[in-house]
Amino acid sequence: MGARLVIMGPPGVGKGTQGELLAERFGVPRLSTGDMIRAALEAGTPLGERVRAYYEAGELVPDEVVLGLVAEAFDGSEASGGFVLDGFPRTVPQADGLGELLAARGIGLDAVLSLEAPEEELVDRISGRRVCAACGLVTHVRAVGEAAACPDSDCRAGLIQRSDDRAETVRNRLAVYGAQTEPLLAYYARSETGLTAVDGTGTLEAVRDRLFETLRTAEMAG
Ligand code: AMP
Repeated sequence: MGARLVIMGPPGVGKGTQGELLAERFGVPRLSTGDMIRAALEAGTPLGERVRAYYEAGELVPDEVVLGLVAEAFDGSEASGGFVLDGFPRTVPQADGLGELLAARGIGLDAVLSLEAPEEELVDRISGRRVCAACGLVTHVRAVGEAAACPDSDCRAGLIQRSDDRAETVRNRLAVYGAQTEPLLAYYARSETGLTAVDGTGTLEAVRDRLFETLRTAEMAG
């Protein structure tokens, strides 16, 4: 069963992890603009070089860049049966642009989910977040300790901290979220799709169950 979902929320709230679980549940790809940007940075493409300074400072990259990335992903066949958008849209012009991309394809959104958690918890989650440079696994120093290897027994590569997860950048990302992305919550609450807020505190499994239950109640998860 396909689904067209948006998962929103502040940095560190678990959008990536929960977005991936939703994508698996519905058999659709997770389209993460953050992942697309990191891939471009790592590959050193012209687009990557254009956005590097914004990314490193925790600033949003220009709207037309992310809209171009999303349009490209929509035109790829993998997203034709649905998608989970993670980390996009993040500004009102991006939400307007998304509306136009969807309208041009004659489709709409099934749900816009907003994951919520208190700021102290977000800072703790982000500053302790570690990512496997090889397989992309995301974990936390509390689970694996400092300087650990990837816990996936087939991988065991080194874990790193995302360059924008450093304490000074985290504070800026939270401020940017409040100023530029939070207004979108009201934008979607007023829209035809509406906004569904979900408590993002607690364990990964507890948040996942809440999300699935919310969508089931909305008669999406069958
Ligand atoms: P994320 O992985 O979603 O936390 O995104 C990491 C960084 O990538 C952000 O701090 C921005 O610099 C950039 N980024 C990701 N998605 C967007 C977006 N929709 N609009 C602007 N910048 C973005």
